[in-house]
Parts: sequence; C-alpha cells; structure tokens
Amino acid sequence: MAVSGPLGTFRLPPLPTIREIIRLFKLQAVKQLSQNFLLDLRLTDKIVRKAGSLTNAYVYEVGPGPGGITRSILNAGIAELLVVEKDSRFIPGLQMLSDAAPGKLRIVHGDVLTFKIERAFPESLKRQWEDDPPNVHIIGNLPFSVSTPLIIKWLENVSHRNGPFAYGRTQMTLTFQKEVAERLIASKGSKQRSRLSIMAQYLCGVQHVLTIPGRAFVPKPEVDVGVVHFTPLTQPKIEQPFKLVEKVVQNAFQFRRKYCYRGLGMLFPEAQRMERTGKLLESADVDPTLRPTQLSVSHFQSLCDVYRKMCDEDPHLFAYNFREELRHTSEKRERDDGES
Ligand code: SAM
Repeated sequence: MAVSGPLGTFRLPPLPTIREIIRLFKLQAVKQLSQNFLLDLRLTDKIVRKAGSLTNAYVYEVGPGPGGITRSILNAGIAELLVVEKDSRFIPGLQMLSDAAPGKLRIVHGDVLTFKIERAFPESLKRQWEDDPPNVHIIGNLPFSVSTPLIIKWLENVSHRNGPFAYGRTQMTLTFQKEVAERLIASKGSKQRSRLSIMAQYLCGVQHVLTIPGRAFVPKPEVDVGVVHFTPLTQPKIEQPFKLVEKVVQNAFQFRRKYCYRGLGMLFPEAQRMERTGKLLESADVDPTLRPTQLSVSHFQSLCDVYRKMCDEDPHLFAYNFREELRHTSEKRERDDGES
C-alpha cells in the first residue's frame, strides 16, 4: 500500500533498503559497465531536489539501476516516472518499486541511446519553445562512458527541438565525472574551458549544482562526481546548424595550447589555409593570437557566422576534413617513394 503524506502527497511505503535489494536480487555491480550505485537516500533526495520542483511532473530517469534515485523521484510529488534500464537484472527490483507506487512508475527495459521519449508522455505537456519549460524532467546517474556521448546527442536534440525537447525546453539533471562537469560550466579563460563548454553553453543555461565524493558510491569510482543542471535557452547564442558549430568548435580546440588560428586553420585545405584562416579571423573580428580557451561564446558566434558564409560560397568546404587530406598526402608520398 502506498502512503499519503500530510498534504495528501504520495510517499513510498516502507521498503527493503537499496543494500537489501542489491543482496536480494544479487545485483553486484558489473565493473566493466561502470556500475556505481548510490545507496544513501538522503543523497539521492539531495540530487533530486537539484532538479527543482517536481510537483505533478513527468520524469524520465535514465539508468535507474537498483532504484535509489528512483525512490527519491517517486517521493517528490510527481505525476509519472518513466525509467529506462539496459541491464535486465534490475527489472525485478524496479518492479517491486512499481508495485509500491501504483500507476506512478513505468519501467522500460531498453537503451537510453535509442529510446524515443518524445512519444512517451502526453501531448498536452508540450509547450512553445519560448514559454516556461514544460513539466518534464530528465534525471540520471549513468556510467560516464554513456553520459558524455548522450549529452552531445541531447544538445543536438536541443538545437533541433526534437527528442526530449519535442515537449519544449525540458530540463535535465545529470551526473558526470567531476572534471567533465567542470568542463561543461567552464567560463572563458579557465583551464577547463573546452569543446563541451561551448557546445553546452551556446544552447543551455548550465549549472554545476552539486559535487558528490566518489566514496558515496558503491563500488567507489576513481573520481568524484558532479551533478549538472541544464535548461535550454529560449534563443541559442549561435544560430547556425549544430554540425557546423561542432565542426568550428572541434577544430578550434584541436591545439588547445596554441594560438587559435592554428586549430581554426584546419577548417581549410592546406593550399589555401593561410589566406582563408586570415579572412575568417579578420571578418569575425577575432584576435588570431588568443588561445582557444580564451574565446567567448560570442567569438564562436562570429566565427560560425563567417564560416557559414564561406561554406555557402564554396559548397565543398564543409565536407573538407584535414585528417583525410593528411592521409591522402602520406599515401601519395608512400606511392611516390615506392615508384622511385
Ligand atoms: N542510478 C543508479 C544509482 O544511482 O545508483 C545506478 C547508477 S549506475 C552508475 C548506471 C546505471 O545505468 C546502471 O544501472 C546501468 O545498467 C544503466 N545503464 C548503463 N548504460 C545504459 C544505457 N545505455 N541505457 C539504459 N541504462 C543504462
């Protein structure tokens, strides 16, 4: 039987502890899958509070595992929680939670990288992009090997307003290796400033809301963990296609300790590199001797706008990849050496 709190809000009934669930269902963490569990429900409550008010919210939890964060979400006054878990061993324990929270918890045995959340919640939750965020939240403590590619995929979804962002500016509260959390929020000039900082900050308001020491997890990971909260911006700071922004940013950070013109130059074929890099930087009004870490999001906005114009003028430019050119050049050299 579920229990009602003083205001009639739902509370889970007394249940075995997460440690007992792990023992009961023989859920030893698989080290190769980077499974690190949170057993302390005060800590999982704290993470869930960082998502903001969840009253009547529809929540998508990724990688619930033995269900610590899941319990805290269920106790937060939500309308519905949908969890997607890849490892079938966790399903019976989650089923037990679902029985204790009738009509509140939907369990999907699947992969967050392919699951289509845009069809899972009622259409009526959808908001205009410019409106306040919808009452839809993503929360998760995933393995680090999944959370970084997933955030890149979701940032691309933000830019296209699809996937989880078909509902509007869906907020996300996710864990990352602490260094990655620091990169996501790093400002201009900081040591941690990187590709991820620009990609996240041009599309979202990003806050590092909590640091959890590694020792809070079982088994203990090598590193501490950062909880990061994302709210998509009503207006992206760079209004160019995601793939174009990604290309400019990736190239700029190619040589992070060198002047930015070195990395940005790699956007252009070698024969015209000097001239076209000069034109890009001059038209974007960016000092070529700034380091990539010293570039602001608005520098990247100008660089992307000018690069876009250059791509419109030269339809082959966007497809250019300096690594391929290097490979062709070295293959040609080997062939020439073989012939002589
Ligand atoms: N959220 C739980 C906690 O905090 O204790 C478990 C955290 S554990 C680091 C990550 C969980 O994500 C595991 O249960 C793992 O099986 C699951 N997982 C890993 N990759 C996944 C994927 N691609 N799709 C869905 N679940 C995944």
